[in-house]
Amino acid sequence: MNLTEKILNSLDEAKDKTLKFEDKIYTYSQIAQNIRKAATLLKELGVGFSDRVALQLPKSMEFIYFHFANMLIGAITLPLNPTYSKNETEYFLSDSGSCLFITTKENRDRLKDVISKLNIKTFLIDEELDKLDKVEIYKEKPKTQPDDVAIIAYTSGTTGRSKGAMITHKNLITNMEALRKLWRLSDKDKLLHVLPIFHVHGLVVALQGGLNSKMDIVMHEKFDPMTTLKAIEKEEITLFMGVPTIYSRLVDALDKLEKKPDISSMRLFISGSAPLTKVLFERFYKLTGHRILERYGMSEAGMITSNPYNPQERIPLSVGYPLEGCSIKIVKDGIKAKPFEVGEVYIKGSNVFKGYWQMSDKTRESFEDGWFKSGDLGYVDESGRLFLVGRAKELIITGGLNVYPKEVENIIDSHPAVKESAVFGVEDSDFGERVEAAVVLNQKDIAPGELIDFCKKNLAHYKCPKQIHILEELPKNAMGKIQKNVLSNMFKVK
Ligand code: ATP
Ligand code: MG
Repeated sequence: MNLTEKILNSLDEAKDKTLKFEDKIYTYSQIAQNIRKAATLLKELGVGFSDRVALQLPKSMEFIYFHFANMLIGAITLPLNPTYSKNETEYFLSDSGSCLFITTKENRDRLKDVISKLNIKTFLIDEELDKLDKVEIYKEKPKTQPDDVAIIAYTSGTTGRSKGAMITHKNLITNMEALRKLWRLSDKDKLLHVLPIFHVHGLVVALQGGLNSKMDIVMHEKFDPMTTLKAIEKEEITLFMGVPTIYSRLVDALDKLEKKPDISSMRLFISGSAPLTKVLFERFYKLTGHRILERYGMSEAGMITSNPYNPQERIPLSVGYPLEGCSIKIVKDGIKAKPFEVGEVYIKGSNVFKGYWQMSDKTRESFEDGWFKSGDLGYVDESGRLFLVGRAKELIITGGLNVYPKEVENIIDSHPAVKESAVFGVEDSDFGERVEAAVVLNQKDIAPGELIDFCKKNLAHYKCPKQIHILEELPKNAMGKIQKNVLSNMFKVK
């Protein structure tokens, strides 16, 4: 089965459903037609089976057309963040061996020397789009096999250089169907889409998931809290997906509004990509009456676990249970851990990717007996519910003792003066590593020492930060993930 073929089935069946991009409305049948035309155009541009096509575009309808068109003809989409620097873009284009670069004129001009150095063909959506009107629609039946690659998703680069995760058609389809059932996605839904589409969250979970379930979609190019709240009321939105930073900004905006928007149409708020704090979960509940459903995913394995659909069973700080078709186990010192014992999260199932693009050693290292070693640390309770405690790379070993950053962050975050925190290790000649924290405050008059004392009241002393740095904001990447390596470097004793 080909992912685009499946999406086209939905578009053809629900042809009057719409995707509203900013102020323009596109019907499902118009979208289907443009995808099929884009497929013909790609063929004419010489794109063949398993070729990589890089898309570095603003969030736009063209991105959507060419992404699905690539997969329809058996080519592979390489979604690239438009804010990547010249060097980064060069790395992705050359590492992937892309044969075509779909972008804007402005971006082509910015990258002119890279493009000529790599001798890569370009297609400019703002100059050459009229070609789309002139071609016939693509009628061929896709020859795709389930294990053929559909997307190479470069990971967010939170812990080092981004790796190209090869995601297959089967990975995408089985994961999408599991989520459809679990989250009860249907044609009665109306999704408000505010996420970037160069990343799995916005592209796969939100956009592909929404179209597959034949729902109306309202798409904003960029996230803005007030615009979001107004749109929920005006458009009678039922479904919203965001990262924790988005929820934090929504809560701040709601706090300030005297007249709260009517969000009674809403059915489900979903969060992922980074940990949602208990405080944020509770503040959001207090202001909206909604318990955010948190789920856990990664480029390499799509969605892995999710909180249950029943709101009463959604628990803050837990990312829930494995999805249908996916299994997890916690491994500590090479063996399966008991409930509540922390270890690395191993993942198996039809959602797990095929490997890293041109990194066979890294791929081999990342698998053990068919299980993918996620690099995330966590534990399960007796019922199998997963709690993440941080990434293996971010585990702090101080004086020979393990400190899981999340446990310390949970305590710091529970202090009323704290908006958010990040706990990280800093090299230390005495302890090997020393626990430190960076904190953003929501009230200005608290001394770091007071927060350290607060930690000492609630945690074993070796887990408490030796120093707390008050910052205006935490360093985050495009997906709102805190970059702890940046913090460790920032406060390293030089
Ligand atoms: P890189 O692998 O390049 O360092 P990355 O791991 O941030 O970057 P992604 O694949 O975008 O790249 O993100 C997956 C990671 O995001 C997961 O491994 C996990 O650490 C984190 N994550 C996702 N959802 C959640 C969640 N609900 N709670 C906590 N962490 C989450
Ligand atoms: Mg990762």
